Amino acid sequence: MNALAATSRNFRQAARLLGLDSKLEKSLLIPFREIKVECTIPKDDGTLATFVGFRVQHDNARGPMKGGIRYHPEVDPDEVNALAQLMTWKTAVASVPYGGAKGGIGCSPGEMSRSELERLTRVFTQKIHDLIGTHADVPAPDMGTNAQTMAWMLDEYSKFHGHSPAVVTGKPIDLGGSLGRDAATGRGVMYATEALLTEHGKSISGSTFVIQGFGNVGSWAAQLIHEKGGKIVALGDVTGAISNKSGIDIPALMKHMNNGGSLKDFHSAEIIDAAELLVHECDVLIPCALGGVLNRGNAADVKARFIIEGANHPTDTEADEILAKKGVIVLPDIYANSGGVIVSYFEWVQNIQGFMWDEEKVNMELQKYMKNSFQHIKDMCKSQNCNLRMGAFTLGVNRVARATLLRGWEA
Ligand code: GLU
Repeated sequence: MNALAATSRNFRQAARLLGLDSKLEKSLLIPFREIKVECTIPKDDGTLATFVGFRVQHDNARGPMKGGIRYHPEVDPDEVNALAQLMTWKTAVASVPYGGAKGGIGCSPGEMSRSELERLTRVFTQKIHDLIGTHADVPAPDMGTNAQTMAWMLDEYSKFHGHSPAVVTGKPIDLGGSLGRDAATGRGVMYATEALLTEHGKSISGSTFVIQGFGNVGSWAAQLIHEKGGKIVALGDVTGAISNKSGIDIPALMKHMNNGGSLKDFHSAEIIDAAELLVHECDVLIPCALGGVLNRGNAADVKARFIIEGANHPTDTEADEILAKKGVIVLPDIYANSGGVIVSYFEWVQNIQGFMWDEEKVNMELQKYMKNSFQHIKDMCKSQNCNLRMGAFTLGVNRVARATLLRGWEA
């Protein structure tokens, strides 16, 4: 089952639990708008290259649509669609006044030069500028994109519409970005982990962790969990995986990576097979990379008691069922990785107010939002007698359904 089928299935199950009318269910499921554009750029060697860019705007009942732009070779319309839908439920679970969207371009950013990436971002922005906007649809970074990508989008958009800092979030601080935004998804993962472990009478400092992915989300989650006394016994990225029974020295690893090193040549850990990472002995497993990594092939062998979904859709439907039977508790993506969009909201608010918050305020507010949504999910699980994924889905879907009904459809 692909990501779209699985997300739609979770949505339908939530809609049934909530007793939603089938017409409302259909209107919530079908995206508001799907955009597909051709992006042709001259490469550095003078030849032309054509890429396909997508933006799926899923729902705007609760506010402007919000979501990242992904640059990855596997970007396809179904996946962007699923991710856009997940954003609708994610912003609702987080209680930020947004709808959901997602975008992407099928490309390999690692193999492109900085100027090729700039040209591609500008062409894509030219093609969609009329359909995004501060109060319409607000992009942000995602896999393969970063603050620089947002700076180019902002600059290109502003050529058509005048300076509009709040049209994108995740910007560089010098262009109106928020303090704390870079670390926000990883920090949110840490707060989510803390909330779940506390609920089960455990703590970060008393637990062992495995983290898959060492990009923006995984590396921040690792640093913050390490700061809280958590022992990270294994981690991995696209280049490979490493482990250390007595805990990987994360600050030393960060230093090594910042000096251009790779995981494999980090001396104070041993290299393990990448496929072994997800089934490595630990209390808490945190996948922070691609979707679908936990599946029929490995779910039965997972040793962790808790899974925190730092990535979007890392656990496929079959794995969900296998893990539930094993008694593994899965904290779902639409809550666990919502720290990024929550601080994106703070960034947007600061841009609109024209007033910058200090980092302490950003982190304090983020912690408050993460704590509140965890409590709301738990309340939903209790009233619907369901697991955490369904608790989060019913919470999000219910909020969007209520907003939709309040607005009405009168033509
Ligand atoms: N790309 C992030 C996500 O998937 C952040 C989106 C945003 O900040 O709009 O949640």
